[in-house]
Amino acid sequence: MKQFDYIVVGGGLAGLYSALRLSHYAHVALLVKSTLQQSNSYYAQGGIAAVIEETDSSQAHYEDTIEAGRGLCLPSAVHILTEEAPKRIQELIDLGMNFDQEGGRLALGLEGGHHQKPILHAGGDATGRLMTTFMIEQVYANPKYPYIR
Ligand SMILES: Cc1cc2nc3c(=O)[nH]c(=O)nc-3n(C[C@H](O)[C@H](O)[C@H](O)COP(=O)(O)OP(=O)(O)OC[C@H]3O[C@@H](n4cnc5c(N)ncnc54)[C@H](O)[C@@H]3O)c2cc1C
Repeated sequence: MKQFDYIVVGGGLAGLYSALRLSHYAHVALLVKSTLQQSNSYYAQGGIAAVIEETDSSQAHYEDTIEAGRGLCLPSAVHILTEEAPKRIQELIDLGMNFDQEGGRLALGLEGGHHQKPILHAGGDATGRLMTTFMIEQVYANPKYPYIR
């Protein structure tokens, strides 16, 4: 019988990222319902929010998210999201993920509820597909890649 230190359930961006990071330290199984291309992450289009501009702030991103959430957001989770987002995006860029650029800088967009432009995108409206494909490539390129079923 196969034995694992961690079992990650779900092959969207959260599962792929978790499995990739964990597999550097432990023996990991990634369990998916169908294929790695079947997830909300794969179909996401608009982009991903992270404070990149120096004129913007994680605190403003937090406040916008809490306001747009109309009481449905868990503040501690929003805090982690908005604080960690720039570091995690930079980590993906350092790994080789290409987000769209404009004039030599990351192209940033505005979505409902945001006072500044924190939205990165890739391939125009193909952000989810390109990010998921990139993460799948990273998972398989890792010599200790997770057992995927
Ligand atoms: C059309 C569309 C557009 C979107 N656009 C955006 C956008 O522009 N920006 C944005 O931030 N968000 C967007 N979203 C939301 C975003 O896609 C999700 O919030 C995000 O992808 C969630 O990532 P995740 O990894 O947690 O879950 P998912 O990507 O949903 O992955 C969950 C995975 O778990 C698997 N799974 C579920 N149950 C089981 C089980 N019992 N056993 C095994 N596997 C299981 C699923 O098959 C799937 O692979 C969009 C969503 C959709 C559908």
